[in-house]
Amino acid sequence: MAIFPQFSFNNFSEQFTRNQLIGKGNTAIVGDSYTSKMHKTTKEAFHKMKAAAAKENINIEVVSAYRSFQRQKEIFERKYKQFASEGLSPEKAIEKIIEYSTIPGTSRHHWGTDIDIIDANAPRPANVLMPEHFHGTGPFCKLKMWLNDNSEKFGFFEVYTDNGNRKGFKYEPWHFSYAPISIPMLKEYKEKIDVKQMLSEEEILGNEHFSEAFVSKYVKENILDINHLLK
Ligand SMILES: [Zn+2]
Repeated sequence: MAIFPQFSFNNFSEQFTRNQLIGKGNTAIVGDSYTSKMHKTTKEAFHKMKAAAAKENINIEVVSAYRSFQRQKEIFERKYKQFASEGLSPEKAIEKIIEYSTIPGTSRHHWGTDIDIIDANAPRPANVLMPEHFHGTGPFCKLKMWLNDNSEKFGFFEVYTDNGNRKGFKYEPWHFSYAPISIPMLKEYKEKIDVKQMLSEEEILGNEHFSEAFVSKYVKENILDINHLLK
């Protein structure tokens, strides 16, 4: 576990069940929509960060927060069917899905600790979650610069950093994780979840095509190759 002097991780003694770790129910999740549902401690920290940003005329808007296993399954299966209908083999369809989406049971959004955020005070592009909107003359540049300087004070860390040596998911300047909870959750996820076994136990369209080699690469790159401060 990484040590951040501003947090006392030792005080966080919550234990997580298999189902909590894979997005199948967590009583600590509060909120009533896909943009407001978060782990209650994450939500408190988020509101503090949002209030601080508001003083700089930045209106942090959550585009996506907690996402259940079921919701991720719907996204995954819709894309799987679409790519299959376009003639892709199951293996190729899966490879294409994981360029931008996770396999159900493996999303950090299942934990209620991770959020995708934009600035609602900026002009809104059609597709908000594009890296170029956060740099140069992009509308979310001001937000991004503020987050670079301030988010870690509130416990929020970028996950999929712009590091050329990183594999797995591409750079996501909008995706932040509340480290005081997500670090212990990732630790327990690694201890408690055998991803290959979980994916074969759960009902997921196409899961018979998740080979041993595919899953171990996916775990190594897509789940574990993240900002080193979150490991
Ligand atoms: Zn995200």
